Amino acid sequence: MSNRELVVLGTASQAPTRRRNHNGYFLRWETEGLLFDPGEGTQRQMLFAGVTASQVNRICVTHFHGDHCLGLPGVLQRMSLDRVAHVVTAHYPEENGEVFGRLRHASLFHDTLTLREHPVSGDGTIAELPAFRLEARALSHLVPTVGYRLAEPDGRRMLPQELVARGISGPDIGRLQRAGRLLAGGRLVTLDEVSAPRRGQRFAFVMDTRLCDAAFELAAGADMLVCEATFADADAALARDYGHLTAGQAGRIAAEAGARLLVLTHFSQRYETRPADLLRGEAAAVFGGEIVVADDLDRIPVPRRPVH
Ligand SMILES: [Zn+2]
Repeated sequence: MSNRELVVLGTASQAPTRRRNHNGYFLRWETEGLLFDPGEGTQRQMLFAGVTASQVNRICVTHFHGDHCLGLPGVLQRMSLDRVAHVVTAHYPEENGEVFGRLRHASLFHDTLTLREHPVSGDGTIAELPAFRLEARALSHLVPTVGYRLAEPDGRRMLPQELVARGISGPDIGRLQRAGRLLAGGRLVTLDEVSAPRRGQRFAFVMDTRLCDAAFELAAGADMLVCEATFADADAALARDYGHLTAGQAGRIAAEAGARLLVLTHFSQRYETRPADLLRGEAAAVFGGEIVVADDLDRIPVPRRPVH
């Protein structure tokens, strides 16, 4: 099991199909568990995927069309049933707080969940954790919609051969990391000499939107970009009218933003019987990186950092 992975709970837009549940995504990032856009049926998909309610400590809703939120009542109720003891934080577009309230209290149950609502009211950082910074930006859809971006802080990677060459080992390594310098063998060694910059990993989640600057900004340098591809390029007019992307446009975002892995999802039911290669091919025509056409219950590891 990878420490950083996307568990795909559903991949259908608008209406679920025989093969595809409504949207839903669980991002495991070390000890953090983020549930994105729980569509209808998410509770049961979590069961199939081996994701428990107690593994979720943050819920990020992009917007309140049903395929992105109808699973909330079930998931929240399940959290109470399972006696989830930790605080769960929920993000969603502030303009539609009353919709969230209705979903939060859609049914009667013994409610023990501590849910902290943190609506998104503008572009920028919405949560700052030791492990990552979570950002949101407004997208261009038919209703208020936000995309999310998770960014790990940049750090430094220790270089074992440089440490050995200077006779530094054991607890001295920690001292050097904390102080940035260390007296070793009568010589002052700086952290820069024995380590190299390590770029923090980035994850981007771009759902229902037309092409817009925010989509590119969210995706900038993403190690994994999860992007809606509701339509094939031949239906670009439909995509524009309904505030969606085509597979080719998703590929363009990944290419221009310098993403590494593009995960296509949120497919219209009109492509149910068409081969996934159609959408993959359209994205690959403009994006040279790795592409996954997501299926329900896929587990997709966040790609490892490139080794230099
Ligand atoms: Zn939508």
